[in-house]
Amino acid sequence: MSEILIHTDAYRQILQEATTSGATLVAVSKTKPVAAIKELYHAGQRVFGENRARELEEKQGLLPKDILWHMIGHLQRNKVKYIAGFVSMIESVDSIKLLREIDKEAAKNDRIIDCLLEFKIAKEATKYGLEFQEVTDFLNTGVHLQLRNIRICGVMGMATFTDDRDQVRLEFRLLKSYFDRLKARHFEKNEHFRHISMGMSGDYSIALEEGSTMIRVGSLIFGDRD
Ligand SMILES: *Cc1c(COP(=O)(O)O)cnc(C)c1O
Repeated sequence: MSEILIHTDAYRQILQEATTSGATLVAVSKTKPVAAIKELYHAGQRVFGENRARELEEKQGLLPKDILWHMIGHLQRNKVKYIAGFVSMIESVDSIKLLREIDKEAAKNDRIIDCLLEFKIAKEATKYGLEFQEVTDFLNTGVHLQLRNIRICGVMGMATFTDDRDQVRLEFRLLKSYFDRLKARHFEKNEHFRHISMGMSGDYSIALEEGSTMIRVGSLIFGDRD
């Protein structure tokens, strides 16, 4: 087997670190060719992340059916339908309206879709994400209990893109504190609510130290994107 499209040594190393922490590695394959995904699949990887609905749909059709696909990018409501039939987890739920739409489309497909609530933790203004207050307001209404075709499995966030490791660490701590508060107030007896998805190529080690259960790593494994 040729090993030219992926960085196998880096992959093994990151997988080892994730596994040691009890975390899941999501291999972020956005913009990368199907051949590269196949190569990593043959190395044993099964969880892949994409950030565009149409690209995800296309790749899913071309690749083995036991891949667990995670949607990790901003998802417009009118595009949920393209992935609702197969997506394993939508990590990037950045609005309550989107959560309702996912529930609707999951019901049409007779499925239950695992979701993470994406919080705005970075200082950068461009990042999508929920505010903590709007989530607690929503959960206090109890409406989420009527959304039978979604499962809220935890939180997700992206730290500021910066060399300041301390700032990144503080942002991850903030996300962890959101998780802890939501768990205690709304999901204490819910075994599904257990994920903190944080950490990318540049900061996954810090994220694991701060309690990440799911790291999303792309460029270290697949090489830089154009
Ligand atoms: C692209 C992306 C990643 C992976 O980024 P790398 O720096 O290439 O590891 C992780 N999470 C999200 C939401 C992304 O869009």
